[in-house]
Amino acid sequence: MPASQDPLTNSQIAELLAMAGEDAKPPLNRAYRRASRKALLWEEEASHLNQEGRSLTELPGVGPYLEKIIRGWIEVSPIVASPPSIRKKFFTLTQVRSILGHRPLWSRGLKGDLQMHSVWSDGSSSIQEMAEAGRARGYEYIAITDHSKGLKIAGGIDEQQLAKQADEIAMVNESLRSAGHTFRVLRSIEVNLSPRGEVDMDLASLATLDIVLGCFHSALRKKEDQTERYAAALQNPAIHILGHPRGRIYNFRNGLSADWAKVFGIAAELDKAVEIDSYPDRQDLSLDLLRLAQKAGCRISIGTDAHGASQLRFIEFGLAAALKAKIDPGRILNFMGNNELLHWVTQLKKSKRS
Ligand SMILES: [Zn+2]
Repeated sequence: MPASQDPLTNSQIAELLAMAGEDAKPPLNRAYRRASRKALLWEEEASHLNQEGRSLTELPGVGPYLEKIIRGWIEVSPIVASPPSIRKKFFTLTQVRSILGHRPLWSRGLKGDLQMHSVWSDGSSSIQEMAEAGRARGYEYIAITDHSKGLKIAGGIDEQQLAKQADEIAMVNESLRSAGHTFRVLRSIEVNLSPRGEVDMDLASLATLDIVLGCFHSALRKKEDQTERYAAALQNPAIHILGHPRGRIYNFRNGLSADWAKVFGIAAELDKAVEIDSYPDRQDLSLDLLRLAQKAGCRISIGTDAHGASQLRFIEFGLAAALKAKIDPGRILNFMGNNELLHWVTQLKKSKRS
């Protein structure tokens, strides 16, 4: 194997692990795949740990067996081929931190997180716990976006449950208010979109929400151009933000193709937002598409897609992608204060577009 002069990066190790996973038999293949995914979230470069004589088992997903393998790679430092599209254009946490480290003021513009799940659907934390975690991060708001009823596999909620959730959010907000905190929990939902861009919830129920995120969860492996479904979703008056637009997942699914310049042009014209889903396995939109979105001038929403309070930290992935793509901070929803954000939604609701 030809060797490289530079120390192996986590990004390259992730690729080597994924490739090894393709050749290995069960259950080892799963351990490789898992470690490849986890490598996106390693806090330090494995090469650096190795250099310091520390154990690589400090890294999530790495046990004694994989440690030996990875150490071998680090010592040989092979030249690693560019990943196939299913693993391309994903940042590792170390890259993300380096991008954000060059512009420390950038992250301070962030006022909140606009996608997360609670125990009401497939999350592991209560709304109260998500609120505390959001407040601890210095946010002004978080939006609770549990799945809607069409997505049964993720515990999607129906109109009645959404109304009950409203009571719980009101109680959390009331206790924040009485404690003198300005932080608020926004009522939202990750409404399931059919491939025709239709929602699976009663419109009157969605109209009670502060903000609505719409996402595709079906027919995500279609090879043909899907511009039409994006146009339909954006034109759907119930939707304000189009979430994880491509539907890609690291080393699992490539996601959909479309005439993205056209999709973002439609979003810009309708004054709607497209999302950067910051979940490390998703990173959707990716950098290349974000650059097109920036050119089109459409609004961008950043959400962690957190399924537990500790995952709010994933926001760094979205912030770094937005910074790298040179997204105008004035176009980022989460850089708006609570009132300004809600004002934008009100304007959309008033217009014929919503
Ligand atoms: Zn989703």
